Amino acid sequence: MRAHNFCAGPAALPIAVLERAQAELLDWQSAGASVMELSHRSPEFMGVIERAEAALRRLLGISDDYAVLFLQGGASQQFSAVPLNLAQHDQTADYVVTGQWSKKAVAEASRLMTVNVAASSADTQFSTVPAQQDWQITGGEFLHYCPNETIGGLEFSWVPEIGVPLVADMSSTLLSRPIDVSQFGVIYAGAQKNIGPAGLTLVIVRRDLLGRARSDCPSTLNWTEQASNGSMYNTPPTFAIYLAGLVFEWLEGLGGLPAIEKINRHKAAMLYQLIDDNPLYANPVEVPSRSLMNVPFTLADESLDKTFLSEAQQQGLLNLKGHRSVGGMRASIYNAISEASVVALCEFMRDFAQRKG
Ligand SMILES: *Cc1c(COP(=O)(O)O)cnc(C)c1O
Repeated sequence: MRAHNFCAGPAALPIAVLERAQAELLDWQSAGASVMELSHRSPEFMGVIERAEAALRRLLGISDDYAVLFLQGGASQQFSAVPLNLAQHDQTADYVVTGQWSKKAVAEASRLMTVNVAASSADTQFSTVPAQQDWQITGGEFLHYCPNETIGGLEFSWVPEIGVPLVADMSSTLLSRPIDVSQFGVIYAGAQKNIGPAGLTLVIVRRDLLGRARSDCPSTLNWTEQASNGSMYNTPPTFAIYLAGLVFEWLEGLGGLPAIEKINRHKAAMLYQLIDDNPLYANPVEVPSRSLMNVPFTLADESLDKTFLSEAQQQGLLNLKGHRSVGGMRASIYNAISEASVVALCEFMRDFAQRKG
């Protein structure tokens, strides 16, 4: 029996994808071995990674001006890879801080270059997105921001327009809706939210930004080196790439990103409506910046938190505890979370409020 899994990451995967992987697990397409057991340089696996890349390019409309890299180390490793690939020690970049992840990105980049925090919404407890007209931009090598803060549930509803390459940590938003890739210099994402299993990190980089890495950038982190080696400077996470490829094809089968966006907006609207209508629940984020994927909420009476979580778990509603840094609750409603799962959560929350509110 599969439960409704609202985990923020590693997150639920589509059942159809898991079933297909299960069916092919021991003998992948008559290769006589699992896809996990094939050489990453074999023609069979080259076919897998090429198919995955092609599907991702179709989904996001990624042009040939961009390289697509399948790497490891998580989004956190890209916090360091970004400065190593785009700036020298004595250069500067602008960072916008809207929550825990963009804060971490600043901390890592600060070891490697001069970071200018162009804007921060810390003074509103990360409940707002700072308006671009108030940003203090130095016009350094790039501008880094996090379009969807997974912990605070704060999402940009717009894309900054800046005269320098835009670098975006899209770990928890990539593939949730269509985007215009050409607005970005670099997009990166850990896979375990909306793409596939943990262990894979996607980097989409405009090719004119390659060739800028500083000389002491390690080869595994060097986008130029990885791009010229087809993401195979070293062994890539083969099984995770295979599964991500199945997720991409599953999304295409649903009708691509416009179709999943419609479903995602409906799911999020149901949950926010319930939270707003019910005095037991509250979400602190300003309405236009509420996340489509991560919905944090608190109970008016904190002493009910434990009961809420244990009753939810008994009803097969898993992983609703908020991030340890902020407390409260959080429901992550990524692509693989069905409308039926969100309906089940809303029914539980309504019933809980009637009994305890
Ligand atoms: C999960 C997450 C990260 C960290 O990802 P790792 O793969 O664990 O390094 C970074 N940024 C955002 C926005 C995330 O959601």
